[in-house]
Amino acid sequence: MERKVFGLGDIVQMKKPHPCGTNEMEIIRMGMDIRIKCTGCQHSVLIPRAKFEKNMKKVLHSAEGGAENN
Ligand SMILES: [Zn+2]
Repeated sequence: MERKVFGLGDIVQMKKPHPCGTNEMEIIRMGMDIRIKCTGCQHSVLIPRAKFEKNMKKVLHSAEGGAENN
């Protein structure tokens, strides 16, 4: 099992795509709850951290520059 590392400003891919068809979300707030914004329709949702970690598939772009793709 890999550890999921994410931070503010990261673009993440969720397991379930947003109803608008986009599967990329940007983390716009960190805390007990995580606020993510759909990059397609700009809709934002606040979800508990545990649920976010469960539903998040992977980090596509890290704002910190720690590219872990390929
Ligand atoms: Zn959307």
